[in-house]
Amino acid sequence: MTKNNMLSQIYLDSNATTRVHPAAAEASFDAMEQTFGNPSSSHITGLRAKSLMEKTRASGKKLLGITNGKFIFTSGATEGIQTAILSALVAAKSRIQDTQNYCILYGATEHKAVPESLKHWNQLLGINVEIKAIPVDENGKLDVDFITKEVPRALMICTMAVNNETGIFQDITLLDQVIRVNNPNVFWMADCVQALGKTNLNLEKTSIDYAPFSGHKLYAPKGVGFIYIKDTAPFTSFIAGGGQESGLRSGTENLPGMAALNVIFDILNGDSEHQFASIDTLHQYRLKLIDSLKNAFPNLVLNHPLESSVPTTINFSVPNFSSKEIMDLFDAANIRVSSGSACSSKVTRSFVLDAMGLPAWQSESAIRMSFGPMMTEHECQQACERIALAANALSKNCLLYSNTVKTLPLDGLIELRSGSSCCWLYTDISTKKAIIIDPLPELTERLKSIISCQQLELIAVLDTHGHADHESSRNHLLEQLPENQLTDHLGWPENALTHSWLSEVYSAIQIGSNKLVKVPTPGHTDDSVSYILIDAHTSCKYAFCGDTILMGSLGRTNFSSSSSKAMHKSLTKIDKLIGKDCLICSSHDYHNEFTTTLRSECNRNSLLNSVLLGNLTVEDFCQRKAQLDSHLDDQQGGEIQCGAYVDIDESLHIREYDNSSLQDTLNHDKNYTLIDIREPHEYALQHSTQAKINVPMTRLVQFVADHINEKSNQYILVCRSGSRSLVAAQALARLGFNNIGHLQGGYALN
Ligand code: PLP
Repeated sequence: MTKNNMLSQIYLDSNATTRVHPAAAEASFDAMEQTFGNPSSSHITGLRAKSLMEKTRASGKKLLGITNGKFIFTSGATEGIQTAILSALVAAKSRIQDTQNYCILYGATEHKAVPESLKHWNQLLGINVEIKAIPVDENGKLDVDFITKEVPRALMICTMAVNNETGIFQDITLLDQVIRVNNPNVFWMADCVQALGKTNLNLEKTSIDYAPFSGHKLYAPKGVGFIYIKDTAPFTSFIAGGGQESGLRSGTENLPGMAALNVIFDILNGDSEHQFASIDTLHQYRLKLIDSLKNAFPNLVLNHPLESSVPTTINFSVPNFSSKEIMDLFDAANIRVSSGSACSSKVTRSFVLDAMGLPAWQSESAIRMSFGPMMTEHECQQACERIALAANALSKNCLLYSNTVKTLPLDGLIELRSGSSCCWLYTDISTKKAIIIDPLPELTERLKSIISCQQLELIAVLDTHGHADHESSRNHLLEQLPENQLTDHLGWPENALTHSWLSEVYSAIQIGSNKLVKVPTPGHTDDSVSYILIDAHTSCKYAFCGDTILMGSLGRTNFSSSSSKAMHKSLTKIDKLIGKDCLICSSHDYHNEFTTTLRSECNRNSLLNSVLLGNLTVEDFCQRKAQLDSHLDDQQGGEIQCGAYVDIDESLHIREYDNSSLQDTLNHDKNYTLIDIREPHEYALQHSTQAKINVPMTRLVQFVADHINEKSNQYILVCRSGSRSLVAAQALARLGFNNIGHLQGGYALN
């Protein structure tokens, strides 16, 4: 796609993988084109290949400081880890005596390849001893008292030289002492993947039995690695076959990979015309990057001590930003970083930072920036400038407070979320008044920042009911409200207006030319209310129904303060007031549907449909509702579900585009509109010149409201990877927009 502001990529995710060094790539290419022989062949082509392989092994041994022991090429560190664990456990099994209580130890912050492989081989070999994680302290250092206590009964101990998420290094000399004083015979594997090229390794001076390494973490290609095995350590082949690698690891050797490693080893050994940046220089780069990060995000917190981590890793968190948000922002600024964490079913968090006992928010917001010794001054400078640019885009959109950046004014409805809970902010641009509905604690700071940076006058902070699954953060926003405002327990001001509507009198708040009307709608809880935003002609714009009507479900009515009888009445009342096409904004959205209408709910929710058609007695409704709620506990996820989902097989028609079909469509039919659905700060940093409209997910409901009568318009949605655009396209299609498409793979692949 034609991109605006398209900047070259700054790759700061070297702990995940690196590009291949140009000289290494050239050597690999040569090994594919010229020195392509099979090292096992006895002809000249084979002998040349073998010579290259042995030259690489010799350089590798020199680098690791080893004269004895095995140096075996592998496909990468995961294979090295299997080789080490299999070898150690096969030997350990023969030592096992029934009278002893054995265990296997590994560091709590180890790469998942280690505990998973331990579990696998412990079970497969029928050893079945306890596998215990060695705790780490808040600085990520292994607990040596724990090792002292547990290692005497350990068959194997696995530690890592340098952590991949934080760069924290362990004190190998200290570990050596603690392990050997307490158990001279335990097999010790030290995962050295992230240490290569970043710390000095003198393996023969240690009692480490196994040390796996990987090529792709240091400018060699993926699919090649190596392992050092001490001469006294037991060995079992992990791959048997044609007897390559002196019978230790079969399979025709990956010569192109070795040729690349050879170049990298030579550079590290100082035997090459090429050079890597020195450790001192890398320290300077890191300090520069940290400086620019702190300028950009003044509240930033570092998640590791700099003095005990390698200079190529920075792991940080920014308060009130999830790691996904920062990653999306940086990706838009063309800086590649990693969230430094694994994605679990619900929240993204880092098990490494959790193990270090850091606060939950730090773990959920962690970002890892990592680089390697090929980093240059120019690249570092560019990265710093780009970080400032990214922060500036956030400030313009009021997500980061700055008194120097001019902000873009807000108008209408914004949806903010935390997990599946939704919070709504409605602002009126002419009066600069704002109302918040169902505030969430996780969003307090963000809401405060938007209110003050947009200079809004907050006139009410409302809850639709007392929430069972989360705390309202209303109290934390009180200082933003007019002083001495008296309210009821859900935040409704006592001095509200009255408003007559369909021959009843309701309480209302004026906001611009609209009114927010409070309608008691008990059922889900006895205090449930709906807030309905109506215009001067009493036409409903948005209905904030809390958990009374959820997308695909009705709020549960099996709490102690629930009443399905009352809900029956409330549903009829809501229908009478808002009609079938007003947008319903619920306080939960379990399936990324954003908003709904009574019309679309009636189409898929027969229970609701029957109530609104008047076909169901109150008793029958209560019975069917009780049945529906009884399925609630079956639902997964650990959070309190506020409604039982009506599972309906909806076939939604979304057209999928690739770059060429997109260009064809846009060139030949001017009626198509390309909409970028990323957040405004991402859009501001980089977007396709063809995407003239930005409708972020937070403004999707407003977009639906504004285009409710244009459902046949032809829209194609685009985002970074194609996942947000698909979700938004599905939501629009469900609401009856019948010409919706999205760009598969997003900007990333097109
Ligand atoms: N150990 C550590 C510390 C790592 O960072 C990685 C890679 O992410 C591995 C092991 C696995 O390495 P490979 O990708 O070569 O299998």
